[in-house]
Formats: sequence, structure tokens, C-alpha cells
Amino acid sequence: MRPTSRAAPSIGVLALQGAFRAHVERLRAIDAEAVEVRTPAQLATVDALVMPGGESSTMSNLLTSSGLLAPIAERIADGMAVFGTCAGMILLAEKILDGRDDQQHFGVLDITVRRNGYGRQIDSFETDLAIDGLDEPFHGMFIRAPKVESAGPDVDVLARRDGDPVLVRQGAVLAASFHPELTPDSRLHELFVAMVGDVARSQRSRMPTRPGPAAAPAPSPTPSAPAPSETE
Ligand code: GLN
Repeated sequence: MRPTSRAAPSIGVLALQGAFRAHVERLRAIDAEAVEVRTPAQLATVDALVMPGGESSTMSNLLTSSGLLAPIAERIADGMAVFGTCAGMILLAEKILDGRDDQQHFGVLDITVRRNGYGRQIDSFETDLAIDGLDEPFHGMFIRAPKVESAGPDVDVLARRDGDPVLVRQGAVLAASFHPELTPDSRLHELFVAMVGDVARSQRSRMPTRPGPAAAPAPSPTPSAPAPSETE
């Protein structure tokens, strides 16, 4: 895990394919440090990762050829915060319907998503969404979006559209079926950066930097016998 000693976290944006530049722009608009990630070495420098929209099957191929698939999976298992949008949500989902058979995914978010689940005739649409924790609606752009068909008990649904979850969170994993990076509204990126800070703080509190009392030999619960003399 990357040591997170600095105040401002470095947010990686998976830059293999798709709408990654828009995420970088949104993050920089709120003065977050944003880094494009194409290699395992770049991944090692970031505290968190955004997975953009694009084409999840193409991204799956590129994740394999870039050597990023296993290191990203390890970082997520280690607790790294991730934010997947559209195709990125598909990459994080536990179960994909209508995916390609050999499509790789991380399976860390207990949802079932159907690729292009909103149907051909309404491939793309825009709608205002009420989001938990935001005072004003958020304008959601849906582009060949995945539909969340079910979500497990540990998944918090932060927004719905016609009853279907469209923004969900499970621990350090946040995912949207729409494209918050394509509107000039950084509130969801702000929410993610705040989440990254919370995750870093809770990891630091679980990992003492120097051996604490737990690392010292446990004191004997009963009065110990006099120490043997060094000359014995
Ligand atoms: N339909 C695309 C996929 O299956 C996702 C579309 C998007 O990211 N805008 O990956």
C-alpha cells in the first residue's frame, strides 16, 4: 500500500481508454492532484483510482496487456478507494449480464449490472438525480449506461432513477452508471476525494507507525518470580 503521509491525496485516473481526460479536468477543477495511470509503476504512486466510462470489454483487454489487472485488484483488496463511472462501474461489479464471456472485472461491488441495460432506443439520455447528501439535484448523463439489476445488503444506494440504483457505494468503492465527469459539476468528485481522505485516515489509525504497546511483550498477569541473577 502506498504510504499516505501527505495531506493531499493523489488521485489516479485509469487512462487506458475512454473518458479519462474529463475526470482529470474535474479533479483538477477542485484542486485535487490527478495522475493518469497507464502502468503498474504509475499505479504505485497514487492513493486512489478513478475508472472512467468507455468500453468495458476494451478496457478489460487493455488491463490485461498493460499488466494493471492484478496490481489494481491487489490495491483494492488492500483498501484503496475506487470510483467507477459507467464502464468503470461494470469493471467493479461482481456480476455482469450481457458482457463478453472473457471480460475481466474486479468483482468488488456486490451488484449485478446489465451492459447497455437501458435499451437501444434510449441508448443515451440526461436526467436530474436526487443524490443522498447533496442539497441540489445532480444532472446525470447516461450514455449506453449499465443498469444495476440488483444490489446486495452491504451496498448503499445513493441515487436511483425510476427505482433503479444509479449511484452506489460499498465501503471504499463508489460507482455511478452515469458520467459525472461530463458535466461542469464537481460535487461527486468532491465526495470521492472526501471518501479517499476518510479511507486514508481509517487505515492510518489501524496501522501504528511505530510499535505500540501491542507489539511489546505482554506483561505477566501474575507477579513474576525474582529475575535470575546474571551471574547464575
Ligand atoms: N456500454 C459500455 C460498456 O459496456 C459502457 C458505456 C459507457 O461507459 N459510456 O462498457
